Amino acid sequence: PARPDVESLQHADVAALLPRPAAESDKYRRGVVGVVAGSARYPGAAVLAVAGALHGGAGAVRYAGPAADAVIARFPETLVSAGPPSKAGRVQAWVVGPGLGDGPEARQALEDVLASDVPVLVDADGLRLMPADAVRGRAAETVLTPHAGEAAALLGVSRDRVESGRLAAVRALSERYGATALLKGSTTLIASTGGPGHGRRTVRVNPTGTPWLATAGSGDVLSGLTGSLLAAGLPGWDAAAAGAYLHGLAARERGAAPLTAMGVAEELRGAWRGVLSSDR
Ligand code: AMP
Ligand code: MG
Repeated sequence: PARPDVESLQHADVAALLPRPAAESDKYRRGVVGVVAGSARYPGAAVLAVAGALHGGAGAVRYAGPAADAVIARFPETLVSAGPPSKAGRVQAWVVGPGLGDGPEARQALEDVLASDVPVLVDADGLRLMPADAVRGRAAETVLTPHAGEAAALLGVSRDRVESGRLAAVRALSERYGATALLKGSTTLIASTGGPGHGRRTVRVNPTGTPWLATAGSGDVLSGLTGSLLAAGLPGWDAAAAGAYLHGLAARERGAAPLTAMGVAEELRGAWRGVLSSDR
């Protein structure tokens, strides 16, 4: 049944949101996204988040962290550095968290990024390490992208409680952190705390997901992709919506068959073309 406070994302809405390069665009004007992800233990998460970011429409991707060698080997397009994000150079948005681990460098990197004055997307280990009050007072927007287990930990409730009340959970997360919250799962929900163009109580629902996305690393691709859209200048509420929508469409490009996370990243091009096909 239709509910006034829940809005299903439509193709045309997403087409209107996606950034297109203008004739006078250069890579800096298209946006630079910084990725802080991966660790000695989980270098693959860095590679997958960068894969998502490269297919997300920003003009350049910077990577800062311990998986720089793995990232550059797979993606020579990336600007890599092994040091902390504070030394990596200017970006228009950060993605922090996939595979980050919980060592002292990870905590410091997260703190640096949250202290910056640009939008930040926090996912995975970043959500686990995030100090509760570090998000509320940020100078720029924050987007949180938990799955149900991560959302439960953030809210201090059981996973079952989140699963049985997903709409309440995504709203509570958004309110508590003063952020855009994207709750992943069989239906992905997006809530925000209000701002230009959207009501405080409306929750967006993404209809494009497929259970084939339940595979290791697919969330890392979503975080890179959505961060890239933030860097291109979309508000958090719109970046989250367009990111979830494209991510689901990309998975559908491969049809009914097991997917890999890198496969999803590679199909993002087809997903973009599908959404932008009405452009000339
Ligand atoms: P993560 O849990 O971080 O690995 O992210 C998993 C990704 O797969 C998210 O984008 C989820 O929304 C998506 N996903 C997981 N399970 C399902 C499902 N049963 N149906 C649709 N999408 C799913
Ligand atoms: Mg994840």
